[in-house]
Amino acid sequence: MISRQDLQALVDFQQSENLVLSVYLDTDLSRQAKERCRLVLRDKLQQVADKSLAQDVSRIERFLDYEYDWQAKGLVAFSCHKCDLWQAWPIEVPVPTLVFAAERPYLKPLTDLLDEYEPYGVILVDQEGARLFRVELGEIIEESESLGEAIKRHKQGGWSQATYQRRVDKQIMQNLKAVAEAATDLCKEHTCATLILAGADETLAQFQPLLPTHLQKAIIGSVPADMQSTSAEVLSKTLELALEDKHKKEDALVLQAVTAAAKGEAAVMGLADTAYATREGRVRVLVVEQGYEAPGALCENCGYVAPTQGQKCLFCGHSMRPVGNAVDLVTQKVLDSGGKVRVVAGNDKLAESGHIGALLRY
Ligand SMILES: [Zn+2]
Repeated sequence: MISRQDLQALVDFQQSENLVLSVYLDTDLSRQAKERCRLVLRDKLQQVADKSLAQDVSRIERFLDYEYDWQAKGLVAFSCHKCDLWQAWPIEVPVPTLVFAAERPYLKPLTDLLDEYEPYGVILVDQEGARLFRVELGEIIEESESLGEAIKRHKQGGWSQATYQRRVDKQIMQNLKAVAEAATDLCKEHTCATLILAGADETLAQFQPLLPTHLQKAIIGSVPADMQSTSAEVLSKTLELALEDKHKKEDALVLQAVTAAAKGEAAVMGLADTAYATREGRVRVLVVEQGYEAPGALCENCGYVAPTQGQKCLFCGHSMRPVGNAVDLVTQKVLDSGGKVRVVAGNDKLAESGHIGALLRY
């Protein structure tokens, strides 16, 4: 399980002399044999072969042989034997096999994934209590229960029907209030920027107004489910809703950036302007098309990434080194400066507007 803290530690990882081996491995055995996974990896490892990485290569191979259980869809690992770095995480979402050797952990595929599968909370509620879930990277990372008092389904003693019904209604309301409190506590502990409700429509209609306003605003929708639903069922129903919501938010973000850039407001579109704004540290949110790559050049003196090769640095006049993919470098710099990166798939407007753009700080 990769947390945001783990990611931040890798972003902050600093050293200068040694290479870090970054491995993303597709280990989805429902689509391919284990041997095939390993073959693809071996091939990619050979492509980045560097003598200084021999121990890191054997570390990952040893891990695959003796430690990894091959149950997850993918694996992400970072190794730098000489600088005492070893991290390996199974992940429950599909990942392509990629290998990189660089002075720092190569994080873009990972940030892409974290971005695509934004964490969310689920409150599965009925009249007697709730099950609460937190989901990250397509995986339930926490599940807890909030149980109220059981509702007696049959009239007892000498109460009139009306008295009995009032008592039942009161108990249900008490249970729902307790759930709302439990959910509020959970969301104090962890950020719940996105919430999904699950349960019967009637119960959810009663429950939702009991949540504090900021949590009501975080709700992106609801799915039908009951207390007997398995965790896997809850996960698959809510993941679908979360992805729909993600696409809606991305469309809105792209529209905002394209519109603001066209009006000359605090936004830019296209690699040239985005790279320039990145060098100035002005990028607040980078919007980049999934899989977009473009060659460019890097100024090793001041860090400017240019979309064209064979020129002097616009900022310091130093000569520039050609790079195969300037997009990755821009992304890395935005992350370094504390900006957000949103990777967007299948958005025509972004494709027409240069595949990359940014909302700026000023
Ligand atoms: Zn420069």
